[in-house]
Amino acid sequence: PADSETLGRATWTFLHTMAAYYPDTPTLSQEDSMRTFLKGFAQFYPCWYCAEDFRSDTTKNPPAVQSRERLGRWLCERHNEVNRKLGKDEFDCARVLERWRDGPKD
Ligand code: FAD
Repeated sequence: PADSETLGRATWTFLHTMAAYYPDTPTLSQEDSMRTFLKGFAQFYPCWYCAEDFRSDTTKNPPAVQSRERLGRWLCERHNEVNRKLGKDEFDCARVLERWRDGPKD
């Protein structure tokens, strides 16, 4: 089975990429689907102590599903919460679309 690092890296890749391709102006139904997706994700993410902390963090900070920009920033902040907990560097959330959608500008 995947360890929590391999699983984590793969999962963040998926989540940030999904957020980077979320609509700029989602319909109410799309907002609802994203909230439901994240709720299910937090329930079934197969690293139980990770999922438990993620649930308490997202209860305090509910998903910002109003736009691609807001969702990307929200997810970046949740990831930074985990980075802080693990003693890793924080990521500059202004660069999240560059990292996960557009690629570096050079
Ligand atoms: P990762 O943290 O996996 O990041 C991958 C890449 O994402 C980085 O190389 C960087 O380019 C980019 N990145 C980094 N920070 C951000 C950000 N804030 N926003 C956007 N992009 C960013 N592990 C534990 O040991 N304990 C836990 O409690 C825990 N909880 C987790 C909860 C969730 C929801 C997830 C998905 C993972 C969790 N993990 C946890 C795993 C942990 O976050 C890392 O994925 C793992 O330690 C591997 O780290 P890494 O250094 O390879 O980079």
